This record gives sequence, C-alpha cells and structure tokens, in this order.
Amino acid sequence: MYFDIGRPLGKGKFGNVYLARERQTKFILALKVLFKKQLEKAGVEHQLRREVEIQSHLRHPNILRLFGYFHDATRVYLILEYAPKGELYSELQRRGQFPEDISATYIMELADALNYCHTKKVIHRDIKPENLLLGGNGELKIADFGWSVHTPSSRRSTLCGTLDYLPPEMIEGKTHDEKVDLWSLGVLCYEFLVGKPPFEAKTHEETYRRISRVEYTYPVQVNISAGAKDLIAKLLKHNPMHRLPIQGVLMHPWVVQCSTKKPTTLSSEEHRQ
Ligand code: ATP
Ligand code: MG
Repeated sequence: MYFDIGRPLGKGKFGNVYLARERQTKFILALKVLFKKQLEKAGVEHQLRREVEIQSHLRHPNILRLFGYFHDATRVYLILEYAPKGELYSELQRRGQFPEDISATYIMELADALNYCHTKKVIHRDIKPENLLLGGNGELKIADFGWSVHTPSSRRSTLCGTLDYLPPEMIEGKTHDEKVDLWSLGVLCYEFLVGKPPFEAKTHEETYRRISRVEYTYPVQVNISAGAKDLIAKLLKHNPMHRLPIQGVLMHPWVVQCSTKKPTTLSSEEHRQ
C-alpha cells in the first residue's frame, strides 16, 4: 500500500496526524505518525502495542476504526479512519455549550459505544472531549488509545494528565472496572450542558478534593432540565456500584426523549421494559 500525504490534521504527543489517500483505491484516511525515539523515551511502546491490538478489533459506528499499522526505522504509522468534522472539543469551545438535544444525542452515542466496549471487557478510562472526534454526519467517534482490557484494573498511568474526568476510585488509586466510564459519562454530560467540567478548580489538589467529595453545583445563568440533572446525579456517585448502569443510561427518559438517534446495541427486548 502506498499513501499520498496531505495536510496535517493535528498534533499528537508523540507525532503528528495527516490526512492521507491510499493510491490504488483512493481511500481517504488519517495517518498518525509516532516517533519511535519519543515512544521509547516515555516507555509506552508496550502500551501502544496493546492498545492498537484492542482498537483494531473494535467495530462500532461511534468508535474510530484503526485499520492497521506499519513502521520504518524511526517511526510507527497508524492507519486510522478519517473524522472529517474534527474534534468535539473545538465544537464545544465554539458554541460554549450544547443544547439538550445535541447533548443527549452525544450521550446516547457514547453510551452505545461504551456498552459495546464493556461487552468485550474493554474499559476506556480516558473519555474527555479531546479524545472525541466527529464523523461526516456529525456523529461522535471515540478516538484515542486510552483503552484497557484489564477489568478490574489498578493502573495509575493516566494520573499524569488532567484529573477532571477521573472517578474517585481512580484518583484514590483503588482497583476499578468498567464503572469508571459511567462516571466520565456523567462528567461529560455536565460539560456538554454547562460548558466546563463539574470539578474544575484552580489547583490539582482542589480538583482532587472536589472529585472525592463529589462536590459540584450548577451555575445559575444556565437552564438545565430536571431530566438532565437526574441523569448526571445518577452517574456521579462516589460508590461505583451505585452508578446507573450503561443500559440504564440508554433507557433514561431524558436520553430517550431528547436524543435524535437510537442506540444500536440495545435489544428490542430491553427497549420494551
Ligand atoms: P492522545 O489523545 O492519546 O494523547 P495524541 O493527542 O497524541 O493522542 P491524537 O489525539 O490521536 O494524538 O491526535 C492529535 C489530533 O489530531 C487530534 O486532537 C485531532 O485534532 C487530530 N486527529 C487525530 N486523529 C484524527 C482523525 N482520525 N481524523 C481527523 N483528525 C484527527
Ligand atoms: Mg489527543
């Protein structure tokens, strides 16, 4: 396979992402170029290998496809599905916050993708707007390599980044399972509607404290429906066992009534209940 490289799509931690076209088929895709030196330096080669292995086997309309990879002396190349509408993060920045129908649709798409992942014993652990891209029809695509097969897991490697999306059990270094993604879903739902994450604070320590006490409030200027607040409250529970299960998110009245799409993974049996 030969690729013609086009414009850069974005900058990554270990290299850049380019628009590309496969010569023979003219198939448009994104090529993520990672420098081996930088991967080695950070000691993440092993992690990258495993995460590529996982993402390349996932098939869901709301999960960015990873078609394959190759490498040369200095770089690793990941062949990715191209997300024409870019980052959800930019969209949120541009609009300030999302209306309820758009928020509910994104939550539906996220929950649908996570439901699919969880049935495969894959937990994501790193859902945040920067890791969500948009397809040609504005559909959400989970797009990064923060995946893990380990359920339960006690990995702490994600703690170097922002704490904002992490649940109490992860910041407190306890073992965790797929219920971490339910917490992040609650954080994202809040952020879509309000425009910033619920536990945001000036310092790392303050964010930590607010997460572990589940301290959040709604700004008085924005009007958020009781249904949305109910879903967020049911996801932001300190005890992972008390969080609304993913099926419950897909069937939550606010999601069902406000979303403009239907889930792909919920059976008609579950729909009827
Ligand atoms: P990580 O989020 O794991 O730290 P990274 O930040 O190093 O990874 P990416 O987030 O994968 O790298 O890519 C950097 C940027 O490039 C993205 O934020 C996005 O703007 C753009 N980008 C990446 N992949 C695609 C794609 N498949 N289609 C369109 N744009 C993309
Ligand atoms: Mg990124």
